[in-house]
Amino acid sequence: MFLTISTTGSKGLPATDLGFLLHKHPDKAQAFSTSYGDAHVFYPEASAERCTAALLLEVDPVALVRRGKGKGRGGAPDMSLAQYVNDRPYAASSLLAVALRTAFASALRGVCNALPERAASPLPLRIEVPVLPARGGAALVRRLFEPLGWTVEAEAVALDERFPEWGDSRYIRLVLEGELRLADALRHLYVLLPVMDDAKHYWVSPDEVDKLLRMGDGWLPSHPEQQLITSRYLSRRWSLTRQALERLELARLAEADDTEAEEIDNAIDEETDTDEKPVPLAVRRREAILDALRAAGASRVLDLGCGQGQLVGALLKDVRFTEIVGVDVSVRALNEAARRLRLERMGERQSSRLTLLQGSLAYTDARLKGYDAAVLSEVIEHLDLPRLPALEYAVFGAARPATVIVTTPNVEYNVRWETLPAGHVRHSDHRFEWTREEFRTWAHQVAGRHGYGVAFAPVGPDDPEVGPPTQMSVFSLTKTTAKEAAA
Ligand code: SAH
Repeated sequence: MFLTISTTGSKGLPATDLGFLLHKHPDKAQAFSTSYGDAHVFYPEASAERCTAALLLEVDPVALVRRGKGKGRGGAPDMSLAQYVNDRPYAASSLLAVALRTAFASALRGVCNALPERAASPLPLRIEVPVLPARGGAALVRRLFEPLGWTVEAEAVALDERFPEWGDSRYIRLVLEGELRLADALRHLYVLLPVMDDAKHYWVSPDEVDKLLRMGDGWLPSHPEQQLITSRYLSRRWSLTRQALERLELARLAEADDTEAEEIDNAIDEETDTDEKPVPLAVRRREAILDALRAAGASRVLDLGCGQGQLVGALLKDVRFTEIVGVDVSVRALNEAARRLRLERMGERQSSRLTLLQGSLAYTDARLKGYDAAVLSEVIEHLDLPRLPALEYAVFGAARPATVIVTTPNVEYNVRWETLPAGHVRHSDHRFEWTREEFRTWAHQVAGRHGYGVAFAPVGPDDPEVGPPTQMSVFSLTKTTAKEAAA
C-alpha cells in the first residue's frame, strides 16, 4: 500500500519545507510499526522545486487476521485461506489511514513549530494513490473529493493490462491536485480512505465518533456527501451514525452564528443604555453568573456550551475557581476558545485549572459528574425543544452538580429592541425564546423532578412591563439520592 504527497516550491519558498511540515527529514528513510505491519516514510525526490514524500505500508497478513478479522460469521473462527490471501497488503485502504495517523500525527493536527505560517497556509499539493479499492467507483471518488477543492483524476485499473477484454478491476488509480493546507489534505485522506474502501478492518467503537468529528472539523459539517461519509466511516453502525450526524448538524449551526450573537447583544446595548458608558449585556450576564457562583461557594465549575470561552476566561481570573471545565459540541468554538485564552502559552499552574472538552449536552457524560456547579449561559435555546429533556437529564439527572445556573433570552423584551422585526427571535440558531412565565414553568418542573430548589434573577435593565433582556435561574440541590447520601 502506497501513497505519495508532492509539492512544488512557491512564492520563493522551497518545496523541501514539506519535510518540516510532515516532521520527517527528506534525507532520512524512517520506519514506524503499526498493528498491521511496518510503515515507511521516504522521499523519492527532494529539491527546492519539487518534493515528494512517500508512505508505504507493508501489511503483515497474519497480524491482520490475528487482530480480529479472523472471525467468520457468528464469531466462529474462519480457517479459510481467503483470509490470508487477499488484497489487503496491496491495496490502499483503512490500514493506510492508520499508517497515516501513526507517521504524520503532528502534521494531521496542523502543528509545525518550525514553520507555523507555512502549516497554516495552502500549498500546491499533488497526492497519488496508485491502487485504491473504491466501492462506488471513480464517480463516487469525485463526489467525495471535488467539494473539498481537489481536482480529481480517477481511473479504473484494468484487471490485467495484457488482456483488456477482461475489463476493469474494482480498483482505481487516484490523483488529487489542489491548493490546500497540508493538515486539511491529510484529514481528508484519513477519513475518506476507509470510506472509499468501505471495509473497515477494526471494530468501530463509540470514540470513533469523536475521531470523525475531530478529523472532519471545518469540512465535514458542510460536505454534500456527509451522510454517506459518516455512515461508511462508522461501518454503518446506525446508532453511532445518527449520533455523529446530529453532532455535525449542531456544529454547523453553531459555527455559522458565533458573530451574529455578539452583534445582537451589541444592538440591545445600544438601544437600552442611554446616559453612562453602556455595559454590554454579555458582560452583565457574565458578572451575574460569577456573583451567583461565588454566592454558592462553588470552586469546581462546568461551563456547559462554553462557546469561545469568554466565561471560562473570567473564571480563570478568580483563583477561588480551582477547576474549570468548558464543554461545547463545536470543535471550532473550542479551538477558538483555546486560541483566545492562549492555552498554548499558559503557565502550568493556570492551565492545570482548565479543561476544554468536546461533547454534546444531549447525552449523559460521565466526565461531567462530581462538580460544584454548572453554568448553561445562553445555551438551552440552541436545542430543539424535543431535545431539552435529554439535556435536562444529562445535567440535572446524571451530572447533578450542587448548583446549576441557566440564562436564556426573555422573548417579551424583544419588543423593546426596535431593530428586531416583530415575531423574530434574536438569533437564527435559537430554536425557541421563552416568556418569563414559560421559563419559570420549565424551571420549576425541572427542579421538582430532580430534587432542586430554584430562584430567579433579572439580567440587564428590568423593564416594568416586559422584564429584563436576559432571565437567569439558579438551581440548588436540596435532595440527594440514597446513593449520593451513602457516598
Ligand atoms: N455560553 C456561551 C455561548 C452561548 S452560544 C455564552 O454565553 O456566550 C451556545 C453554545 O452552545 C454554542 O457554542 C454551541 O456550540 C453550544 N451548543 C449548542 N448545542 C449544544 C449541545 N447539544 N451540546 C453542547 N454544546 C451545545
